Amino acid sequence: MHWIDLHTHSAASDGALSPAELVAYAQQRRLKAMALTDHDTIDGLDEALAAGTELGLEIIPGLEISVKIENTSMHLLGYLIDHHHPGLIKELLILQESRAERNPQIVRKLNDLGMDVSLEELERASGGGQIGRLHIASVLKSKGHVENVQEAFDLYLKQGRPAHVDKFRFDPETAFAMIRSAGGVSVVAHPFTLTKDRNELEAWIRRFKSMGLSGIEAYYSDHTTDQTQFCRQLALKYDLVVTGGSDFHGANKPGIEIGVGRGNLRVHYSLLEKLKVEWSHRALVA
Ligand SMILES: [Zn+2]
Ligand SMILES: [Zn+2]
Repeated sequence: MHWIDLHTHSAASDGALSPAELVAYAQQRRLKAMALTDHDTIDGLDEALAAGTELGLEIIPGLEISVKIENTSMHLLGYLIDHHHPGLIKELLILQESRAERNPQIVRKLNDLGMDVSLEELERASGGGQIGRLHIASVLKSKGHVENVQEAFDLYLKQGRPAHVDKFRFDPETAFAMIRSAGGVSVVAHPFTLTKDRNELEAWIRRFKSMGLSGIEAYYSDHTTDQTQFCRQLALKYDLVVTGGSDFHGANKPGIEIGVGRGNLRVHYSLLEKLKVEWSHRALVA
């Protein structure tokens, strides 16, 4: 039992399982450690850590921050953070407030397009956690407005579509500083969503490195072997640690299983050990 998953979501953001359920599930799937990395929130971490202690599964406190950069976007993972850090909590509150403002706007646009969707339905779908577009998409599906979740994004919700509303996102400098000040290490998530162009990607990594990037998510559910290899080369070249995870969302993202992604993902515990070494070096520098 040496396998881990450093990228998972609970119902505190847009995953299907509660933090405690997710931890129990990770244990059932025989993982040795799991990081909870909910989108823009640390609300699930206390519950996950408590469940980990109870079940004897190592839980790494993390989060995944949405970052705005030029004409694309980046997801930045923060690991081994102090999730009670007041500065971090305050910054995340700004995001949550903007999300709360954004959802009614999306609902209004959908209503204007002739779809009967209400905020109450979204709240029910999110089970009391924060409401994201994945919840909106699944409500559209359950009401028969679209065939599936992907269609909801393609027709209405994604950038350039009629019910899209931009959300507030941090600039990269702020995101790196948030993670650093909370004592964590920064890792760029699923790097190829930034760009498929490898030269461009390398230029981004170089830039992020100067802002304090510590690692790169080389092992990821949607990566080809070749993409993983390229990320590993970048890590070597820019002295970054390598991490990996499935981006498990439970039933909210079908086809992706915890620990194994689409079937062939494997993340070894030794990567977590290296991440911890990097983290302890950071602590010495700070
Ligand atoms: Zn992501
Ligand atoms: Zn994610």
